[in-house]
Amino acid sequence: MMVNKQQVAMLAIIGGALVFSLKLLAFLLTDSVALLSDALESIINIVASIMMLISIRIAAIPEDQNHRYGHNKAENISAFVEGFLILIAAFLIIGASVGRLFNPVELADIDLGLAISLTATCINGVLSYVLFREARRSGSIALEGDSKHLFSDVLSSIGVVVGLFIASITGWYILDPLLALLVAVIIIRMGIGVVRKASTDLMDQSSPELERRIQEVMGATGGYIEYHDIKTRKNGNNYFAEFHLCVKGDMTVRDSHRLTDGIEAELRKDFPSIQVNIHVESEDQCCSSLHRPAP
Ligand code: ZN
Ligand code: ZN
Repeated sequence: MMVNKQQVAMLAIIGGALVFSLKLLAFLLTDSVALLSDALESIINIVASIMMLISIRIAAIPEDQNHRYGHNKAENISAFVEGFLILIAAFLIIGASVGRLFNPVELADIDLGLAISLTATCINGVLSYVLFREARRSGSIALEGDSKHLFSDVLSSIGVVVGLFIASITGWYILDPLLALLVAVIIIRMGIGVVRKASTDLMDQSSPELERRIQEVMGATGGYIEYHDIKTRKNGNNYFAEFHLCVKGDMTVRDSHRLTDGIEAELRKDFPSIQVNIHVESEDQCCSSLHRPAP
């Protein structure tokens, strides 16, 4: 079966709605605040998945007159916001837990509630894995953000279930908020990671692997004097590079274009979606001489 980013995103929304229904049921059965906060976290999941689907749709729009570089950054914006939603979820859990620290609640029979919550957590775990695999395959930062969000949800749910289970056996009801707080810390770290990763592309951070490859290709290429001012950036799986190429003043336009086309073709082997711009300068007009080609 052929799946794509959009289908996987749709799956995340449907799965999220199912998980939320189950968690809400678990809360209604047990009246547990921890399970309620777990269910609340799932609402954020659904909102985030819908946002992710929209952003993937926007990102898939081909370049147009107003967006010559395409619409890919919609995914980064979505992942960035998703990171904040993860953080909000963590603070919701902290809020619910802190109240319980000072006011432990004796839990009633919660076996069925925990079983339902565990089922929901299994569904979330599978969803998270499917999303993560597709994110790696397609280079979709929005999907990756959402898969990490779901995984953080799995961790928090396990924390809540284990805490409630131990608390119901031992009567140490303080365990419940303590475990939930620990999980919240893990979730905060993940949220910060998602925000940071989304911002690297938004901030046009250089791509070290592309710069290294340019240096290798230029080292293996002759027919020029030097090159300088390499600028690289990436956006999901799309790479962009530009640099200046200094050639002999009497080189023909035809020859210099053939040279740059050859360099571009070589780079495209490793970076299929790369857009390269090489600015050719004659030797008497070069702006610097940082790199010399191998003799
Ligand atoms: Zn050309
Ligand atoms: Zn220059």
